[in-house]
Amino acid sequence: MSKHQPPCDDEATEPIEVFPEGALDLRAGADACYKCTTCETSCPVAEVDDEFPGPKFQGPEQWRLKRKEDQDIDDSILSCSNCLRCDNACPSEVPLSQMHNEARGEYVDEQMTKLSREYVRNRILANYGLLAGIGSKVPRLVNFVMGLGVTRKLNEKLLGLPSEREFPAFATQTFREWWRKRGGAQVESDDKRVAYFHGCYSNYNTPEVGKAMVRVFEAFGYEVLVPEQRCSGTPMFANGMLSDARRAAETNVESLAAAIDDGADVVASCTSCSLSLRTEYPELFDIDRIDDVSEHTYEALEYLRIHEDLESAVADAEVDHPALAYHAPCHARNQGLDRQAVELFREVDGVSIEDVGDSCSGISGTYGWKAEKYEASMAIGEEMFHHMEAADGEVGMTECPTCAMQMEHGTGYEIKHPLQVLEAALVPE
Ligand code: SF4
Ligand code: SF4
Repeated sequence: MSKHQPPCDDEATEPIEVFPEGALDLRAGADACYKCTTCETSCPVAEVDDEFPGPKFQGPEQWRLKRKEDQDIDDSILSCSNCLRCDNACPSEVPLSQMHNEARGEYVDEQMTKLSREYVRNRILANYGLLAGIGSKVPRLVNFVMGLGVTRKLNEKLLGLPSEREFPAFATQTFREWWRKRGGAQVESDDKRVAYFHGCYSNYNTPEVGKAMVRVFEAFGYEVLVPEQRCSGTPMFANGMLSDARRAAETNVESLAAAIDDGADVVASCTSCSLSLRTEYPELFDIDRIDDVSEHTYEALEYLRIHEDLESAVADAEVDHPALAYHAPCHARNQGLDRQAVELFREVDGVSIEDVGDSCSGISGTYGWKAEKYEASMAIGEEMFHHMEAADGEVGMTECPTCAMQMEHGTGYEIKHPLQVLEAALVPE
């Protein structure tokens, strides 16, 4: 590993070399492709967009073309939503998502016009945390303005954000404000300690998820730390903004490594954040302690299932909860976590839960937030919407905040995070 690189200035936009010479050779991965096309049939974008050449082209084929002929990266790389379903599907362990990330980063750095509307829009979407930090200073005003029809039309015209979508409302008190006002951790423990990676959305938009996470872990006797943190990088990877992602990763790794030294494991409530910290960081960056952070990171429910007798705890609980339609995010699937919520909650008295199938929700983080992708995003989500409507009840459940947006947008249902249902079952009011 190379030496730790000091955090960069947030304003700097210098292109970076994602794979410094010799650090990562993807040739073996490219050679491992035997053209079975399994990845093609698992790609939700290829299914609805006839112009998208699919994961095999975006991965091994484009990689070979680029090396042999030094030709430009095809701009269709920006249509890959980074759902990672092709990664899961490939029987030959071709590192498709690494190849896509490398190609996307190279395309954005070297070929994309930095003054184009698409670049500006993608940069804003990739840096949602910065925007939310400003918006949440005056949440009521921003929520009012962003909710106006005229603002939505203007956002579509000027920035290419779909006017059909409602901008997510900012909470009047962020999770971190709540945490400070509460006086931080209410449980101290030398043996059971976790560092909570809340991510941007639980902090600025759904602090009730973060509060549920804290209360559930404290109910199991954990001391919860809330370290300094920035965006996990997920929307930056998806938009080829790898310089931004690297700066965020440097801050996060330094801060989380200090918590690990303090005896904590890292837990995230968003499955894209846990995926980013434990898989995408070490695949893409060479930062001191990055492997430590990767090895100590878990998704919250996963952590409790490993370290506690969660099944017995919920089996003894009784809760009167509306029937739940559960959608497993693609990024949960990639970590092997797609069945855990259903397996757990079907043991709870008073909770009825139905898995709405293994299709992609279609929003894939920022993909469905691009006006030109809106229709494709809704077409991908159609199967999930139908299954939700066919399930009992009108409450959805998922671990991913953007899947939750899409579920709500497509069905009008209220959407819960599994930690909120767990809180209702295990934590007395
Ligand atoms: S990451 Fe998703 S959208 Fe991109 S090529 Fe793979 S399956 Fe298709
Ligand atoms: S699934 Fe893997 S081996 Fe098959 S075509 Fe896709 S990348 Fe190649």
